[in-house]
Formats: sequence, C-alpha cells, structure tokens
Amino acid sequence: MNWYKIAQYADEPPEWDFPEAEHDYNPSWDYAQVIPDEKLKAITEEVMNDINNNLMPQIGMGKAKTAYIEDADGALAKYVHGTQPYPVFVIDLESIRRGAEKYGVDIGGQIEATLIHELGHAIQEWMGLEMDEDEAESFAEHYHYYRELKKFWE
Ligand SMILES: [Zn+2]
Repeated sequence: MNWYKIAQYADEPPEWDFPEAEHDYNPSWDYAQVIPDEKLKAITEEVMNDINNNLMPQIGMGKAKTAYIEDADGALAKYVHGTQPYPVFVIDLESIRRGAEKYGVDIGGQIEATLIHELGHAIQEWMGLEMDEDEAESFAEHYHYYRELKKFWE
C-alpha cells in the first residue's frame, strides 16, 4: 500500500458535488477549497440545512450550497454571481473565527449572519435587483432577531 498517496488524498478537500443545481459551477475554478474545522463545519451545515429546508421554499428558489475556502477575495464569504436559483456561497471560516474572537461575538451567530447576507445577494440577482449591501445586511439582521424573512423583493 502506498501510504503517502493515502495521506495526500486524505488532505484533499472533498469533491464538489451539487447534483440539484442547474449549473455546473465548481468553486475550484476560482478558489482554493480547504478542509474546514469540524466544529465550524457542523455549525455551517446546520445553517445551510435551515436555509434549504425552511427558507428556500418560502423564497421560491432551489437549493443552496456552501464551499469552504481560504480567502473569499478579502471578504468573509461571497455569493457566486450567476449561480442562482441554486446559489453557491464560498465561506472563509478561519477569517470569521478570527473576527468573532477579536470582537467577542458568538461564532455561530456570525456564520449565520454571513450566510443569510449572501443569500440576500442571491435573491437580489434572482429578482433582477441591484446588489445592495444595506438591503442584504438588514435582511440578515431581521432574520437574526425575528427568525423570519424580510421579503424586500416583494
Ligand atoms: Zn454583501
């Protein structure tokens, strides 16, 4: 057995797999995918499950999926333009962790707020609206405080 090969394979991020999507976008085209911290990944998956099971049906979009990457062009996360209604998000969990530690805020809340903000951008594109930062941020804040969608697109 070639142990070197096995070790190397184990260090590779899992293959990108998004069969529901109508597009074939692969985050590897633009970003370095990483193996995320297990705990932070579990939090992220929980948020994505909430988005896919509870929010997307209310919005009328398909499914969303998040890739774990190292550097979202200096941002904590990004919505990949052109991927709606099956939006792809990329997220830099280590930068979110550093920010949460620096400002003493809850990392779970931070991950959720970041992803809901990016979902806001996906909706903006889906509805042919301008990419509006304030609108995306207030969409995320509203969900954080009231656990319901602020339907800015209706
Ligand atoms: Zn934004």
